[in-house]
Amino acid sequence: MSAPVSEAPGPLRSTRRAGLIDQVIDQLRTQITAGAWAVGERIPTETELSQLTNTSRNTVREAVQSLVHAGLLERRQGSGTYVLAASELAGAVSRRVAKARRLDVLEVRRTLEVGAARLAARRRTEADIAHLRELHDGRQAARLLDDVDELVARDVRLHRAIVQASHNPVLTDLYEDLVVALQENVRLNVAAVAPADDDHSALVEAVIAGDAETAAAEAAAFLDALIAGSDKEDVADLEVRVQPEN
Ligand SMILES: [Zn+2]
Repeated sequence: MSAPVSEAPGPLRSTRRAGLIDQVIDQLRTQITAGAWAVGERIPTETELSQLTNTSRNTVREAVQSLVHAGLLERRQGSGTYVLAASELAGAVSRRVAKARRLDVLEVRRTLEVGAARLAARRRTEADIAHLRELHDGRQAARLLDDVDELVARDVRLHRAIVQASHNPVLTDLYEDLVVALQENVRLNVAAVAPADDDHSALVEAVIAGDAETAAAEAAAFLDALIAGSDKEDVADLEVRVQPEN
């Protein structure tokens, strides 16, 4: 007697093996979402992951491939596998932004950041104020250094903090996904031209002062300046050095 066809193992992998791969996917995903492996970091090699998860290298390879498809991981030729995004949504946003026109991305930033600045001015707490002052001081200090990566990192940190001070978790999540994608893109396009008047003091002070309209106007002003210059290839700036068309 032969077994029913429906119970025969599939041509690609058995149910048991599929279950094992799913378990490894979950384990790897947890490392990423919990931040044990941060965005931009290289994850352990296949051999190391095989030992860590007590599974075969083939199982690890399939689990990693699945997370590459999901947009969480990225394989770099000859270098290893890196964390690209902390969630599926962030991965999707990241892929979308990577092939977006610079102007389109700037307009989305403007839409989110002007609204966020207005809300932040209305809702910022004492803790937000202290945090904003600290991050702004750090950004100002970084402007004096000849270190583009450091300035980009501190700039992004300040913008994230302003959005977080809006105390709108949906807006914060959307912005987090967008900004991680932007930061990665900025990193890929390091053409060290420091902007002459890249100063967020007025924006930060307006948020701290609780002046919603000035905060919104300041957030709009520096993004409008970038938008106005975005059709000129020679105007490099630190705010968004997004690749034009791929
Ligand atoms: Zn900025």
